[in-house]
Formats: sequence, structure tokens, C-alpha cells
Amino acid sequence: MKCIFCKVDTTHDKSVEHILPESLGNTEHWLPAGIVCDKCNNYFAIKIEKPLLESSYFKLNRSYQEIYNKRGRIPSVPAVFLSKSDSFGAHLSTYGDSLYFQENEDIVKLQNLSNKNTTFKLVMQLPPKCPEPNSMDRLLAKAALEALAYKAINHSLPLDEIVNHDALDPLRNFARYGNGKKWTYHQRSLYDINKVWQDHDANELYQCLHEFDFLYTEDQELYFVLIIFGIEYAMNMGDTDIEGYITWLKEHDNKSPLYIE
Ligand SMILES: [Zn+2]
Repeated sequence: MKCIFCKVDTTHDKSVEHILPESLGNTEHWLPAGIVCDKCNNYFAIKIEKPLLESSYFKLNRSYQEIYNKRGRIPSVPAVFLSKSDSFGAHLSTYGDSLYFQENEDIVKLQNLSNKNTTFKLVMQLPPKCPEPNSMDRLLAKAALEALAYKAINHSLPLDEIVNHDALDPLRNFARYGNGKKWTYHQRSLYDINKVWQDHDANELYQCLHEFDFLYTEDQELYFVLIIFGIEYAMNMGDTDIEGYITWLKEHDNKSPLYIE
């Protein structure tokens, strides 16, 4: 078997590759060992996923949505306590309806002062509405190719076609090496991050952290469409532009391809 990114032989590679990081709550969409080589797997984790996960958009949303990382931790939220005469920094973690303070010197000072009946106002940072512009491009390129492999496996199709398909090389190289033309993508807010969905069959409520699928347009363009935290991202797998997607949206009342029968 060959790596779908760098095409090296992966017979002895052992890494399981997650299409989206586990720290974004993805436990179900992953590729077995051998599809992405250990080296590419490691590269994506360090160079592409880590900086994104540490960005304020993802870090704060991971905290407010209480998504545990691989080590079983939730990122803390920076906050400030303000009184008429003082201010103190703090790091807070949210669990259910409670807030937990990370012990530090400022917190000890704050506890001493609050014994003297001082009133403090707590100011917490809220997440930005969306990620930084263009920050998602290589993650989307990586996830797009991996989602294609995921689909092939689930339909018992050979992966060689993905590895050997020349038309996928520009996307592959952009994801893995940042080479060539810069890939653009379409982004829009579809629903609120806290939206609760109802599963009528199981009579259960649930929150959707991510979902994805492919759109094949009449002009024979293949788009990878991904929703994370209610924001929809679309990337053309064969070319760097997204004109075809914008046209498709106009023709379909701006509905998401993920919600069309
Ligand atoms: Zn590789």
C-alpha cells in the first residue's frame, strides 16, 4: 500500500490518521494504518493541526463546547477579574455549569481580597465568530483527500485510483508541501454552534460538531464540503477556484449540499 499524500510504501507504517483532529471531537472518522504514512501523519499533526487548534477560534470553542483533547483535558479560557481598584488575570475551565480556576498567584491574591468584601467583575474572552481568513486551506485540502479515501474504503473501492490519479496531485501537494497555487475555499455560517438537533428515530437530542460529504456538480467539478461548529467550508478538489460552488449555491437557494436529498 502507498501513502495517499507522498506515495511512499507504507507496509511498515503504524499511524492511524484522523480526518479531523480528535481534539475537535472527532472519534469516528479515521483511516486505518497504511493509508497515510507515519511521516505525513506526524507532519499534519504538528504543522497544520496544532497551530489551528491553538488559534483563539478553535481553542475557545473547544473550551466552551467542552471537547476533550487526546490527554483528556479541556483548554482553559483566559479571563480577568476587575474591581474598582484592581485587576487579576486567571485561567478558567468550564465543566457543565461550573467554572474552575487554575491556581496561580493572582488567584491567591484575589481570594485574599474577596475576604474584604470587594466586588469583582469577571470578564471572559468569547470565541471569534469564525477562523482567521485562509487559515483552513491546508487542513481542508488534507481532510478532502482523506475523506475521499474514507469513502473508497467504505465502498470497498481500490485506493490505488486515489494515489495514481494525476488530477489530485495539485491538491495532494498543496496539503502536504504547501506547493503550487494557493487554494481558495468557500466559507459561510450555516447554523449556530450551540444548535441542538433532534434525532426523531432514537428520540434523542444531539449537537453536531462536524459533518462532511462531496458534491459533484453538473460541470463535473468535485467539491469537498465540510461543516465544523456550524460553519460550512467548501473546496474544489480539482482546481484552486470556487466559482463553480458559488454558481451551484445560487441554483439551489443557498442550501447546503449536505442538507439536500
Ligand atoms: Zn506520506
